[in-house]
Amino acid sequence: MTPARNICLGCIADDYTGASDLANTLTRCGLRTVQTIGVPSDDLALPEVDAVVVSLKSRSIEAALAVSHARTAEKWMRGRGAAHVLFKICSTFDSTDAGNIGPVMDALRADSGDTIVLVTPAFPETGRTVYQGNLFVGSVPLNESPLKDHPLNPMHDSNLVRVLARQSKTKIGLADLAVIARGPDAVRARLDELSSKGFGAAVADAVFARDLETIGTVALDHRVSVGASGIGLGIARALVASGRVKPDATAISDAPVGGSAACLAGSCSQATLQQIAKAEQAMAVLHLDPEQIVAGKAEARRALDWAKARLAEGPVLIASSSAPDQVAALQARHGRDAAGHAIEQAMADIAEGLVGSGVRRLVVAGGETSGAVVDRLRIPGFLVGAEIAAGVPVLRAVGAKEGEMLLALKSGNFGGPEFFSDALKLMR
Ligand code: ADP
Repeated sequence: MTPARNICLGCIADDYTGASDLANTLTRCGLRTVQTIGVPSDDLALPEVDAVVVSLKSRSIEAALAVSHARTAEKWMRGRGAAHVLFKICSTFDSTDAGNIGPVMDALRADSGDTIVLVTPAFPETGRTVYQGNLFVGSVPLNESPLKDHPLNPMHDSNLVRVLARQSKTKIGLADLAVIARGPDAVRARLDELSSKGFGAAVADAVFARDLETIGTVALDHRVSVGASGIGLGIARALVASGRVKPDATAISDAPVGGSAACLAGSCSQATLQQIAKAEQAMAVLHLDPEQIVAGKAEARRALDWAKARLAEGPVLIASSSAPDQVAALQARHGRDAAGHAIEQAMADIAEGLVGSGVRRLVVAGGETSGAVVDRLRIPGFLVGAEIAAGVPVLRAVGAKEGEMLLALKSGNFGGPEFFSDALKLMR
């Protein structure tokens, strides 16, 4: 079954935690939103919604495959009436020179017939700002931020005009802050000027929350845009302001689901490392041996036995996370992709075993890690509930074979020091 009425906004997210973050933002703006895992099958009963966020796991896969998945998602959304499609990327522009932001943007632009696409990962309220095309993470440029040490896509250039130009076939321009500050008509004029000179995309500066509203308003003149939750917020506000969406204050069910609770951490971000350290005071914590995970399945079995013995007493946390020097050493021994994949699959094995042992409330830290876990659990979609931390909602599973389940999928950098306890307080 598909939604009874047309959706106003279709979003394609390149990872699952990013999709939750966006779905959360849209929900807070009053859009009824469902997050699906992959393109929904026709027999998934979707509630009536304004926006659908299709979660892909395409950030780090081969570019041609990322393009093909995004096109399938776009076709599904256009078929449900979506006039605008947002390609949701990470607010730290996580990608490599081989893609996948540029190739997906190029394909969606070609399919939509748009001449130029607005691009911005800015989200000032979460410390992501773009000035003169340079992305800042808090007070430092992207290439000086912890993202320089990311296990899969280290970011060494903060200038997004340059970064995107290396990935895209089109010329990349800039709509700078001076233009954005002058409002929608000034931005429209700048885009017209750029597209008349053959530019197919423009990175938009945004330093203040109001800049997102300007960008969102102009984005809706077009059929495709690219950015993080910040542009999603701008677009959602523009949809509400223009009367195309009537905000809906009806909260989704918060009926308790019960069952055991567990947390899994595969992110090696500084925020997650700190959150794990804090969790030691609140729950039983097991640190996996990454070398043993790469060696075989025994480490995941050991973790599961450890958890099963403790679940009745309270929540547990199982973490593979290590500090950057240990991550680098493991990658040097086994290769970056092989190490990452082995650990993600071990986390999925553990998650499957935990759910098999009665866990119905599961918190996962790490974007790729969450993707591996949710895929293994074969959960088709989620409704967005209460917000645990900025960008991280409680997710209520839709169509899960185990019945009622609550999940929280956290991008590595997100959440305060007490994130794991904060999540479990809201997941009853
Ligand atoms: P984030 O949201 O912080 O980017 P991800 O889960 O997306 O987190 O990415 C973290 C990657 O690092 C995953 O591929 C994960 O399997 C891998 N990983 C986890 N623990 C380790 C470790 N100890 N050493 C090396 N890689 C690791």
